[in-house]
Amino acid sequence: MKLYNTSSRKIEEFIPANPNEVKIYTCGPTVYSFAHIGNFTAYTYWDLLIRTLRLNGFREKRVLNITDVGHLTSDADDGDDKMEKGAKRDGKTVWEVAQMYMDDFMENFRKLGLIEPYAVCRATDYIEADIKIVEALDKAGFLYDTTDGLYFDTSKFPKYAEFARLDLENLRAGARVEFSDEKRNPSDFAVWKWIRDGEDHAMKWEFRGRMGYPGWHLECSTIIHEKLGEPIDIHCGGIDHIPIHHTNEIAQTEGAFGVQMSRFWLHNNFITVEGQKISKSLGNVYYLSDLSERGFSPADYKMWLYQGHYQAERDFSFEQLAAAHARLMNYRNFAALRWQGVEKSDFATEKAEMLECLNSNLNSAGAFAVLDGAVKSGLAPSDDFLKFIDDAFGLSVGDSTPDISDDLKEKIAARTDAKAEKDYAKADALRDEIADAGFELLDGASGVKWQYKN
Ligand code: AMP
Ligand code: ZN
Repeated sequence: MKLYNTSSRKIEEFIPANPNEVKIYTCGPTVYSFAHIGNFTAYTYWDLLIRTLRLNGFREKRVLNITDVGHLTSDADDGDDKMEKGAKRDGKTVWEVAQMYMDDFMENFRKLGLIEPYAVCRATDYIEADIKIVEALDKAGFLYDTTDGLYFDTSKFPKYAEFARLDLENLRAGARVEFSDEKRNPSDFAVWKWIRDGEDHAMKWEFRGRMGYPGWHLECSTIIHEKLGEPIDIHCGGIDHIPIHHTNEIAQTEGAFGVQMSRFWLHNNFITVEGQKISKSLGNVYYLSDLSERGFSPADYKMWLYQGHYQAERDFSFEQLAAAHARLMNYRNFAALRWQGVEKSDFATEKAEMLECLNSNLNSAGAFAVLDGAVKSGLAPSDDFLKFIDDAFGLSVGDSTPDISDDLKEKIAARTDAKAEKDYAKADALRDEIADAGFELLDGASGVKWQYKN
């Protein structure tokens, strides 16, 4: 299996330290609002990663975190606190807000048919462990205190610029004028924030006799340390995480424990909607519920994503989604051939080629091109091939295509008889009834076949 490793900027052969326990961590959502189709891009693509690992005989141990504290509207240390902002907006407590959006996130996660992680960890459940890392970093001399919080001195971590290929000189030159004079370097970041006098912050914990809360990046270092242990095999996130969030996670983990954090780093690109960045002001923020209101299923969205590559910027539109839906229906009709006396094939060659595509840095688009070839053959898929398709993509191609009812079968036969008797009115009426049940009929040389209506 080959994967693009952001760390080396190269496609590398992936060999896990332990094939029976491939340690994976995916940075999770900040639960201050509903997750939109852009946010779900990452989780949907990482599901493909997990499925591909399984197809290769690996077993994963995957942890997903839920950010319910510490994330400011900028990924660095300024802007509003996202959780507090969500609470004000909704007229709820931060804890209620966290619970509500976390529940919604997990519900959508399941609706998408994504494989459940081994552990889903809320940042606020790991405060004690956070504090241990803060202490370790302080002891190692990486931290300095400011009125805002305990900051990581990035100049003391010589590798700091390496992961994101940062130009620290440029960063320094471009630092804003109002830049806090307590911060030693523009790239320094808070590992622990203090609550200042008069400041209103609902989530707070006592540390060194004062109230405060963890900086956003800390939870990932902590949860990985507690739940998986370093180094992990694969760490995943959005490309926006490279220059700040993941760079800071690495500094914390390597600074505190002197070990490599992760062997592989995978990053998914962003989707745009109708050519534009997803934003409230443009009115192009869509949720899975918006798609279902327009008659599209979570599987259609997945199909749309998997037609492209996780590292490519993709543009979402309802036309594209309709095209993905049609393609998925095509696969379902392929699967439905197995009920209709059509000769079956294992498609062993196609199966091997599809796996090879997935093993080439998750080339799902290539795998679907191979599957299209199988569909064109006119043969029906064997149970084994269908299982492979569903294991690989989680699109329920096999599960969602049961045989039709006896009643419908009788109607199809009655229509064929009516046609033979030239009773076209009756034949048309039966065809309409069959259509109302969601099926269309194809009259071909080898008799009539039914299909799911698009
Ligand atoms: P946010 O809650 O807005 O901070 O978003 C959480 C994460 O979702 C970001 O860090 C991104 O990695 C991811 N994300 C947000 N928008 C998009 C998008 N349009 N496409 C892909 N990923 C996105
Ligand atoms: Zn993270």
